[in-house]
Order: sequence, then structure tokens, then C-alpha cells
Amino acid sequence: MHGDSSVSQAGFDAVVVGAGIVGTACADEFARRGLRVALVDREGVGSGATSAAMGHIVVMDDSAAQFALTRYSQQLWQRLRAELPDDVEYEERGTIWVAADEEEMMEVRRKHAYYGERGVPTEVLDAKALRRLEPNLRQGLVGGLRVPEDVVVYPPCAARFLTERAQRHGAELRVGCSVTQAEAGRVGLSDGSEIFTGIIVNAAGVWAPELTPGIGIKKRKGHLVITDRHPGFMRHQLVELGYLKSAHKVSADSVAFNVQPRRGGELLIGSSRQYGAEGKEVEEAMLERMLRRAQEYMPGLGELPAVRAWAGFRAATDDKLPLIGPWPGDRSVFLATGHEGLGITTSLGTARILADQITGAKPEIAVEPYWPSRAVQ
Ligand SMILES: Cc1cc2nc3c(=O)[nH]c(=O)nc-3n(C[C@H](O)[C@H](O)[C@H](O)COP(=O)(O)OP(=O)(O)OC[C@H]3O[C@@H](n4cnc5c(N)ncnc54)[C@H](O)[C@@H]3O)c2cc1C
Repeated sequence: MHGDSSVSQAGFDAVVVGAGIVGTACADEFARRGLRVALVDREGVGSGATSAAMGHIVVMDDSAAQFALTRYSQQLWQRLRAELPDDVEYEERGTIWVAADEEEMMEVRRKHAYYGERGVPTEVLDAKALRRLEPNLRQGLVGGLRVPEDVVVYPPCAARFLTERAQRHGAELRVGCSVTQAEAGRVGLSDGSEIFTGIIVNAAGVWAPELTPGIGIKKRKGHLVITDRHPGFMRHQLVELGYLKSAHKVSADSVAFNVQPRRGGELLIGSSRQYGAEGKEVEEAMLERMLRRAQEYMPGLGELPAVRAWAGFRAATDDKLPLIGPWPGDRSVFLATGHEGLGITTSLGTARILADQITGAKPEIAVEPYWPSRAVQ
């Protein structure tokens, strides 16, 4: 993607730092509401965590606030569907949360009730129904929960689509230039230029604390592997219910069975979570653990050649909720970061509720749980 290298230095209503899925969604939402927006990224559109992600648009219920934002965002993706170009690969695959034992089956029933009470359709599967839907899962699993409205997208193209739509509404894009300072209505760039603005949105993902010191987020590394094409091997995104245990751990390294069929027949195999790993390199030991776990659930995966592996970083907060809203201490700075493993899902909801707060519109969900004031370090 080529940026407009001639961002005028005239005033903007808002400068969004970071053109990942979150920053591009914010730029798009602001521009469509008539704000004059500049979107700045030092590398390119979707070059951070966004290009490392699986693209699972998934409703999660770790907390009421997480449920509210993931479900709201999923509905926004559903509304956007008709406009999305083909390369965004929007597919309503549905998720199956796989239960390996009776304890996990109890979690299936709890989730079924919770989602049902809140209008999210789900279906409880017994062992037979699970095998009928996904015959390549191993024998002996006890059942699962199918969530048919969960979706798969291709995140880099989604970010590109949002950028282009923002540009059609007047947003200016500048890539290849680092933001070196972002405070008090002034955005300094690495080429020595500066932009003056009423609002700065720090959507720099795991790098957000470099611009706004004191933001309580940590890097959480994750690996993925993609296989060759095997159309028909599986139909749903399959996730072990143990994933919830692994995603919620706040310390040790963990892996979980989480596999997604892509439109072209490739299988995307995840996932791992690590704190304290700074380098982006693929770590063989982590990869092996992850693939072993995947094969415990789907033995046939071991026979499919992997073509590529990579790693990226999630921006994790202590309470597992993103940071969306005003940053205490600088009236010009707003945050849109800390989305951990759900930023593709929650990007659209994030943009909506941030734009609501900035323009004084009434948000459709409560915004207080995401306020950054709770995570000042
Ligand atoms: C392995 C893995 C799998 C995942 N799977 C899923 C999934 O299935 N579903 C889901 O919902 N989420 C998933 N996620 C999480 C998701 O990828 C992130 O939450 C999301 O991409 C965050 O987007 P972002 O825009 O906040 O950050 P990023 O995409 O990281 O964007 C930040 C941008 O800021 C730019 N930037 C940083 N500092 C500066 C600066 N000083 N000046 C200019 N630009 C700057 C960077 O270049 C970058 O482009 C996954 C993440 C990983 C790592």
C-alpha cells in the first residue's frame, strides 16, 4: 500500500497513530463522521500484529464487558459484510469449542446458557454430533459448543479496505514515517515535520507505551503455522475449551489447540502465548509444543505439510480488556490499544465507541469498562 507522502501540515481534527486493524477502523469511523483525519504508520497498513493474526471474529465471555464488546463488534462486521471486497475472505465458518472431558462439557452448557440469554445462537453437540461435523477430530472427545455466527476474515486486507474507505472520506494516509512524539495536540514525525491536531489516537498496538509512557500493557508473543491446501479437511474454526484456561493465564507460556480452515483450503494452526519473549523469530520449541497439542486433537494434521510459520505480539492488559478512551493527564490523547488476542474482532466496536466519546454521540454499549484510567502505571 502506498501512502500519500504529502500530508499537509495544516490542522487535523484527529491524528491516528498506527495503521493496524484498530487504527484503520478508527480512521474510517472518524472520517465517515466528518472529522479531518491523518493516519500515520511507520511501516505500512496492517504491518504489526494485524498481519500476524488468525482473523477469527469470535464472541467471548470472559467478562460481561468482553462479551459486550466482542458481540457488538461481531454485529458490526455482519453489517459491513456486503461492502467487504472478496479478498477480505469473510466467511461465516462458525466456531466449535471442543470439550475433552465432563468438566469442559459443563463449561459448554454454561456458555450455551449465557450466550442464549443474550441472543447469540449456539448448539450443544454430543460426541456423535461433534464427529459428524468434524470427522478428523480424534475419537473420545465428549462434545462441544457450536457458535454458528463466528466468522473468519483475512486481517491485512480488512485493514486495507478500512484505510481506503477512510481515504474516500478524506482521510490522509502517511506511511514510512515514525511518530516520535504524540502529546498536547502535537504529533512529531521522524522526518522532522509535525502535525497539529485536536485529538491524538494512540493505536500503536504493543508499541503504544513508547509514545504514551505509563500505559499498562505487556507484549504477549504468539506463533501460527499454515499448511498446504487441504480443502474439506475441516469446516469450522475448532478451539479446545482448554484455550480459555491458556488465554487467561497471566504468567506461564502456554499452547492450545486452535485451528482455522482458510477459504483456499489451507489450515491455520495455533496458538501459543508467551510473556517476556521480545524477538519476533519463530521458536522451534514453542512451535513443536503447539503442533503436538494440535495433533492431540486432530491426529491427521501431522500428515499435512506446513508451508510457513510466524510469530507476532498481542498487546495484553492485566484485566484482559482493551484500553479505549481518554488518557488521563493529556486532554488531546486517546488510547485504542491493549486488545490482546481479540483486536481483529473488536476493532470495529472500538472505533465506534471511541468516535462516540469524541463526538459526544451516545454509545450503544457501556464504555466505562474500557477506560484507560484503570491501567495507568
Ligand atoms: C498469533 C496471533 C493470532 C491472533 N489471532 C487473532 C484472531 O484470530 N482474532 C482476533 O480478533 N485477534 C487476533 N489476534 C490479535 C490481533 O492481531 C491484535 O489484537 C490486533 O491486530 C491489534 O491491532 P492494532 O491495530 O492494535 O495493532 P497492530 O496491528 O500491531 O498495529 C499497530 C501499528 O502501529 C504502528 N506503529 C507503532 N509505533 C509507531 C510509531 N511510533 N509511529 C508510527 N507507527 C507506529 C505499527 O507499525 C503497526 O502497524 C492475534 C494476534 C496474534 C499475535
